[in-house]
Amino acid sequence: MKPFVCQRLVWSACLTLSAALPFSAAVAQAPATPLVTKAAAGKWAIVLHGGAGVIERSSMTPERDRAYREGLAASVRAAAAVLDRNGSADDAVEAALRLFEDNPLFNAGKGAVFTAEGRNELDAAIMDGKTGKAGAVAGLTHTRNPISAARAVMDKSQNVMLVGAGAEQFAASVGIVQVDPSYFFTEPRWQGLVRQLKKEGRPIPQRPVGAPPEPAVPVAELETPDAHKWGTTGIVVRDRDGNIAAGTTTGGVQAKRFGRVGDSPIIGAGTYASNDSCAVSATGTGEFFIRLTVARTICALVQYRGMGLQAAADEVVQKQLVAIGGDGGMIAITPDGQLAWSFNTPGMFRARMVEGGTVQLGIYRDEP
Ligand code: ASP
Repeated sequence: MKPFVCQRLVWSACLTLSAALPFSAAVAQAPATPLVTKAAAGKWAIVLHGGAGVIERSSMTPERDRAYREGLAASVRAAAAVLDRNGSADDAVEAALRLFEDNPLFNAGKGAVFTAEGRNELDAAIMDGKTGKAGAVAGLTHTRNPISAARAVMDKSQNVMLVGAGAEQFAASVGIVQVDPSYFFTEPRWQGLVRQLKKEGRPIPQRPVGAPPEPAVPVAELETPDAHKWGTTGIVVRDRDGNIAAGTTTGGVQAKRFGRVGDSPIIGAGTYASNDSCAVSATGTGEFFIRLTVARTICALVQYRGMGLQAAADEVVQKQLVAIGGDGGMIAITPDGQLAWSFNTPGMFRARMVEGGTVQLGIYRDEP
């Protein structure tokens, strides 16, 4: 059986992709298992996302579908490897998100969307649930792995949020790798920008300095031309000690202007973690997530109303966000091991795993 012919029932088999197996082998061999919603005490657990939006089977080729699933599974494995050697939740968050940032399929690091001026401006945040410490960066243009810059702000500065040139000056001063902005260029993202700007009748910026020569034929895209989607990445983790952490990293929204910053690096909006409640990473139209302080609101429902994690997530994503026209999704975890995701879009790249279990992946709405 080929993965792209998996249908509703069979997809649950596809989801039980073993972390150790190559994708095709895992799909062929895996038995169906229900989605794990709770991790046992003393076991680590991971939930991550690679963005939400109009992601439908009809607009996805089999190869793309497979590549995204492999990308999600690779980041799960990176976090799992850290946790398996008794690493901290923070280390697992950073390891998984660095991999996403290096993967051109996702809107973070290399592969980030372009601004209207043809630049890549990167945002990231991390929060440690045990200490309540947090670090965030926004508007980076040279930092290869923004999540590591955010981590350095948390661990090595007196601050929580640094932006732009100053943030990169700090990052460089603590040894975080800086690159030429052309490093972040990818053809599909560039063509996506040009297509959007043309459609909206806005000026098209010059092809960036250092970009490879323009290809003669358009690059095949994941999305239909009119699809609205995001590709931000985020992860929440519980380590064996029961400490939780959250991280999010993104290029923001395509064709953004004027130094626009979304929810991802805003503590309490797109990223939040506290051992008193939960850890959340969000993806979607950031302005709505900021206005509702989505991540903190979900955790407040858990903390003060005693709601279960999934119910709290659904309350905010399916009701409060929808009520103000906000679209997107989120992932979450609690110190007692509850795992959740919720999204109000046709799809969200997502995965979860608990220690001793298998990687469970989903992309489309009709998957578990
Ligand atoms: N939330 C991000 C932002 O608004 C976008 C995304 O999730 O892809 O910047």
